[in-house]
Amino acid sequence: MALLPIRIYGDPVLRRVAEPVREFTPELRTLATDMIETMYAEPGVGLAAPQVGVSIRMIVIDPTAGDEKGKAFALINPVVTRSGEHVVIEEGCLSVPDIRADVVRPERVSVDYQTIAGEPAHLDADDMVARIIQHEYDHLDGILFVDRISPVRRQLLRKQLKALAKSQGKRS
Ligand SMILES: [Zn+2]
Repeated sequence: MALLPIRIYGDPVLRRVAEPVREFTPELRTLATDMIETMYAEPGVGLAAPQVGVSIRMIVIDPTAGDEKGKAFALINPVVTRSGEHVVIEEGCLSVPDIRADVVRPERVSVDYQTIAGEPAHLDADDMVARIIQHEYDHLDGILFVDRISPVRRQLLRKQLKALAKSQGKRS
């Protein structure tokens, strides 16, 4: 098990559309375990593979939203159907440190995915878990939560985001 470095805003891997997972290898299982460990250590409630520099369609989520350890699991090749009213929840992202903002998203999701063993699975979720899944799922399509905030709020964050991207450029 290992903690993985988190890719930060400005890193091109965060803007890529991630590839479907086709082989359920021991390496994939190790990556999922490491992602879960990294998520808990940060701490966070969800993490997508591109955030650790691996452009594949796998996310890990904490279904207790930070209340209880040991329940996290991986969703591979998730397909998300959204429903319900649009609700406002403040979001943050391990790849966009120190920035939080309100994001409007549907309150419920229905997800078809594969488990780490490659088995088909299904999950219906609402509230925070639905929110976590939508946020992480966006990462698989190269979308960040700051893309979904109001234009006014984004304008206010413009300098902060630029600075993040610049520091990222220096690091790599
Ligand atoms: Zn995120």
